[in-house]
Amino acid sequence: MANSKYEYVKAFEQPDLLLPNTWIVVRIDGRGFHKFSSKYAFEKPNDRRALDLMNAAAKAVMSELPDIVIAYGISDEYSFVFHKSCMLFERRESKLVTTIVSTFTAHFVLLWNLYFPELPLSPPLPSFDGRAVLYPSVQNLRDYMSWRQVDCHINNLYNTTFWALIQMGGLDAKEAEKELAGSAAADKHETLFSRFKINYNNEPDMYKKGSVVFRDYELVEPGSVSEVVDEDFAKTIEQLELSKSQEEKDRKRRAKAIITIQHVDIIKDEFWERRPWLLS
Ligand code: ATP
Ligand code: ATP
Ligand code: MG
Ligand code: MG
Ligand code: MG
Ligand code: MG
Ligand code: MG
Repeated sequence: MANSKYEYVKAFEQPDLLLPNTWIVVRIDGRGFHKFSSKYAFEKPNDRRALDLMNAAAKAVMSELPDIVIAYGISDEYSFVFHKSCMLFERRESKLVTTIVSTFTAHFVLLWNLYFPELPLSPPLPSFDGRAVLYPSVQNLRDYMSWRQVDCHINNLYNTTFWALIQMGGLDAKEAEKELAGSAAADKHETLFSRFKINYNNEPDMYKKGSVVFRDYELVEPGSVSEVVDEDFAKTIEQLELSKSQEEKDRKRRAKAIITIQHVDIIKDEFWERRPWLLS
């Protein structure tokens, strides 16, 4: 387009390139979902339909954005991890965050009827906020994922006990809160078991561990040692030349891979060791 006298305004835009070679986590969170969940009478503490809908929207986001390596969801939030080598939108933060947020929201709304057929959506419609956080090392990234999963565990144990006291114990919210104030995890397990015959360990994994979404390839057998190949110089050069087409192949492979949703421990090493493609 030809220059116009107005074009100088473009220079007011701030650059927002994210630091290269760092893991990008985009976390989105439902706006006012406490209220939203009562409007649509979510079952407490966990409405399975709502979680399934969150997971379906996250899966759709992952299939539209092959650069996402893994995603983790609990309650009304989802974290999407872009590989540290990702160059999507030249790593412009606002492009990455707003694309994730709007793609997720669009699918959440589109799929709503499938999960809540008897409760049509009406304004105010569901919306999500989003932010990007950078993690320089795999350890930092894994600690981030662990932090979210620990949060899931702590919240779910609390909420399960809280709602048992109300729904089965006849307490009101204030009384239940008071009863749980200062209680340790073991106390909550004990309350659930002795008063309501609930063994917390038998609660669904989706509630206890959250949802992990990733591309599935072949699992590496536990205990198998990955081979270290000693490459000579010629081979290294050859590989440098191949790496571009390899990158393209990897992209296509990612785009075709099956996306799976699992409710598993991502704090322990095993999950990552058995799926070395995730963080390599
Ligand atoms: P904000 O806009 O600040 O995020 P919020 O009301 O969404 O406010 P959150 O801390 O994000 O607050 O908490 C989300 C709330 O949504 C939970 O506390 C819970 O009440 C409700 N919620 C979300 N998902 C579910 C679900 N699957 N089943 C039952 N309740 C849910
Ligand atoms: P990017 O993802 O970088 O924004 P883009 O393809 O969306 O890429 P834009 O610069 O945003 O590129 O341009 C939007 C394009 O969408 C227009 O050039 C035009 O081709 C098309 N488009 C948008 N709205 C209309 C419309 N109402 N009628 C016809 N074409 C439209
Ligand atoms: Mg919030
Ligand atoms: Mg929220
Ligand atoms: Mg939340
Ligand atoms: Mg456009
Ligand atoms: Mg445009």
